Amino acid sequence: MLVLMDKTEKTRKRIIFLVDMNAFFISCETSRNPELKGKAAAVAGDPKYRSGIILAANYEARKFGVKTTMLIHEAKRLCPGIILVPPDHKFYNKKSREVMEILSKYSPVIQQNSIDEAWIDLTGCTSLFGKPVEIAKKIMNDIYDNLGLWCSIGISENKFLAKMASEFRKPMGITEIWAEDVKEKIWPLPIRQMYGIGKKTEEKLNSMGIYTIGDIANTNRNLLVKAFGKYGDELYRLANGIDPSPVSELPQRCSKSISRSTTLPRDIVDIESAKIVLLKLAEEVGAEARRYGYKGRTVSITIKYGDFHTITRQKSIQPTYLTKDIYKTAAEILEENWNTRCPVRLLGIGISNFDEGYVEQLPLLDFVKETGEHDRKKEENLEKAIDKIRSKFGTDKIKRALIIEDEKFTE
Ligand SMILES: [Mg+2]
Repeated sequence: MLVLMDKTEKTRKRIIFLVDMNAFFISCETSRNPELKGKAAAVAGDPKYRSGIILAANYEARKFGVKTTMLIHEAKRLCPGIILVPPDHKFYNKKSREVMEILSKYSPVIQQNSIDEAWIDLTGCTSLFGKPVEIAKKIMNDIYDNLGLWCSIGISENKFLAKMASEFRKPMGITEIWAEDVKEKIWPLPIRQMYGIGKKTEEKLNSMGIYTIGDIANTNRNLLVKAFGKYGDELYRLANGIDPSPVSELPQRCSKSISRSTTLPRDIVDIESAKIVLLKLAEEVGAEARRYGYKGRTVSITIKYGDFHTITRQKSIQPTYLTKDIYKTAAEILEENWNTRCPVRLLGIGISNFDEGYVEQLPLLDFVKETGEHDRKKEENLEKAIDKIRSKFGTDKIKRALIIEDEKFTE
């Protein structure tokens, strides 16, 4: 028995769980109001303020076809008896912290992915708590006994496969997907079900004749790189079940980064408005990066939706501190991840992964041979000149045309 477990530990380098709370907001409400138990119910926004949409429906309501982001009147038509509860985000945040506290009893290596889910690295914990499935059962019962909330758990050797596994059985499911199961369980899935793939990427892959995750895994890697750049490489790797990324705190918290975010005065549903907000944030991030002389290689954006679900996505670029580059990359990521069904409540941009030990040489050398480089220098000098004027006369003196056109979306 012991020998067998040792072998398991050796061949499976890591053991990673994705713990995903089921119908989180409405389950939180039910945990403090047992009258909701067994009845169709949902947390829904107040139409007078932000949005008249369903933020989270319980499984009884889902049986009638009620879904997240559906309009309240639509939900009432499908399920006339539905009980609607106004959102109490303070309470959900408190519950979320309590869930994370329970998880931290099992391992200190936790990465929260959103308010209702987290990865937890349990490598080396099997001798303490038992087999992965046994540990998952313990965690599931521990959370239910203490908080009255159910979860689903995906088990694997990396973050990507654990996330994919967690989607398989809901509610209260425990699913294992190891590297050797990828072919059978992951490859037949349509690409839209691959974690991280948005509508744009789906369309582009479809146009290349790629429809399933298996198609990605079995296509020529160079073809993907040609079409998507570095991201193509990542797609190929993930589709083959390979993800070496560590379970760690969110990048913006543990590494040096410059970021800005803004909660919108009202939810945004169109991408053009979202881009205007991103441009304003990119201006601020760029100005700060130039002030310190930091050029970053990674641009990330954060999107928080009306239901408080939050995603962070990033892209690598040539080191830069130019507003233009930061904005362009951020807008690309936004397009990749735009979801027309979900109103957006908050947007953020960050730049990180700064050139190590990079100290800007001043005055700038004039000897730049390549035209591209020369243009970049010109662009850098222009943006710095703008920064100077702004610091003298205030930020409002110089604005990009796109921002002047429409200021109503930013505070
Ligand atoms: Mg979730």
